[in-house]
Amino acid sequence: MSSRLAIIKNFLRFFRCSCGGRIRPSIVFFGEILPESQFLKAEKMVLNCDLLLLIGTSGIVQPAPNLPSLAKETGVRIIET
Ligand SMILES: [Zn+2]
Repeated sequence: MSSRLAIIKNFLRFFRCSCGGRIRPSIVFFGEILPESQFLKAEKMVLNCDLLLLIGTSGIVQPAPNLPSLAKETGVRIIET
């Protein structure tokens, strides 16, 4: 185990639920399926925004690249870093 991984695991052991289970961040890890309700919510937000900021994404891993495509189709302005 790399020292960096050991440090992260040691740090995460402090984040436990009252039931003893692990608490994880509210994110989707690589390889996990994005919950459909969350993606529908994101689509709705894109359709109702004036400006879409694309920050820190490769734009490759699906289904995220669909969001800027949707924005372009509907005329939403996009700023990409
Ligand atoms: Zn719990």
